[in-house]
Amino acid sequence: MQIRISDDALAVACGADAVAHRFAEFGHDVVRTSSWGMHWLEPLVEIDGIGYGPAAAADVENILAGKADAIRIGRIAEHPFIAAQTRLTFARAGWTRPLSLEDYAATGGWGGLKQARALSAEAIVEEVTRSGLRGRGGAGFPAGIKWNTVRLAPGTRKYIVCNADEGDSGTFADRMLMEGDPFMLIEGMAIAGLATGADKGFVYIRSEYPHAVAKMRAAVRLAAPLIAPFEIDVRVGAGAYVCGEETSLLNSIEGKRGEVRAKPPLPAHDGLFGCPTVINNVLTLAATPFVLAKGARAYADYGMGRSRGTMPVQLAGNVKHGGLFETAFGITLGELVEKIGGGTANGRPVRAVQVGGPLGAYFPPALFDTPFDYEAFTAVDGLIGHGGITVFDDSVDMAAQARFAFEFCAAESCGKCTPCRIGAVRGRETMDRMIAGERTADNLTLVADLCETMKFGSLCALGGFTPYPVMSAITHFPEDFDARGQAAAE
Ligand code: SF4
Repeated sequence: MQIRISDDALAVACGADAVAHRFAEFGHDVVRTSSWGMHWLEPLVEIDGIGYGPAAAADVENILAGKADAIRIGRIAEHPFIAAQTRLTFARAGWTRPLSLEDYAATGGWGGLKQARALSAEAIVEEVTRSGLRGRGGAGFPAGIKWNTVRLAPGTRKYIVCNADEGDSGTFADRMLMEGDPFMLIEGMAIAGLATGADKGFVYIRSEYPHAVAKMRAAVRLAAPLIAPFEIDVRVGAGAYVCGEETSLLNSIEGKRGEVRAKPPLPAHDGLFGCPTVINNVLTLAATPFVLAKGARAYADYGMGRSRGTMPVQLAGNVKHGGLFETAFGITLGELVEKIGGGTANGRPVRAVQVGGPLGAYFPPALFDTPFDYEAFTAVDGLIGHGGITVFDDSVDMAAQARFAFEFCAAESCGKCTPCRIGAVRGRETMDRMIAGERTADNLTLVADLCETMKFGSLCALGGFTPYPVMSAITHFPEDFDARGQAAAE
């Protein structure tokens, strides 16, 4: 009998260690694996393929006695949440032990790197370009073009930087990948090194992710002989949202204040320590072993339009089935929220979902037929960002959410440019007046004007994207704003 329980941070936070300890007290060995990503079922116990969740230490005796029908979910691999996915990046999630080189190799690990070693740098870049892979961190920039720019840039020293500063609310895919399948990220970085001529890489992880930091450090040590002469260092950031912006991230690694650099020059030409640098998100780099091992076509066959491959969507907030759901682009937002996510956790109607983190737009159910696709989201003034979907029920106050966007921006602004530094504070103050029912129409006009200035005048996405949540809340939920003046007048 094999008992398997994840040691992912979420599972541990839900009590996985205590459950594992209880099985040990009954004399059983427990294998600690990566997480399946069904967070509402954690701690999820797997015995010979059958799942029990959420399980508590007090359930262990019943599980062992075959009397735990109330939490028995059947064969995990056949669970509708798992069976409905297309897992390319998270293909090993739930199956393997995160720090087992043996498990990694036995499930196709290092196949992409092996292929890459047999190719020229140009051919590797060509493969990534043909796969259609776009940056999964938010901007959606084609990975192949970025790699090629660094490949062609003059300079003997080049770097690969992995942006693991996952700061969006409701996102956890980077963390899960680093904790669950760290060798895949390492392999992806080594492939990027071969493609560009870089022999050194950095993984920049925020300090709020101590489990991910520990796993990555251990994995880098174990994998070092296999990726040599490529080397990787793990760097821990203090956790500023703006350090997820690529140039402030570079400053942070260099030991400087995490402040955004003006572009140009692009990091691809003048990046870390002044050298040509690839900066990619965890999911982008982790997708490349599949691309190299199976071929560009195999990856590009998934998706729609110019959004190729798969996206690990993260369902969070007030949602019944929260977790990680990897799927090909093209599924609708409504399917993700209602069908996959099961609607709200408390059973109230869904009123809004925010897609793409704290700077993403709010969507009403009327837009739920929007396909999950970079261009389709742009067409409705939204962003896919890092693939996080946060669900709100009908008790949400959208004016308060719009105010929060300004407050968030004011708190996280690096202060370098005026539209963001001052605009966010003025925006919050104006929202406060509007919420108090003071000259609602005038203040809304002022907010719209301010958003225009921030969108086009800010130096980076923090200030530039704050208008998305604000204006989408005003556009799609006007009743939460217009009614303020009436309420105050009555
Ligand atoms: S937009 Fe905000 S975070 Fe970005 S550079 Fe300007 S002040 Fe800094």
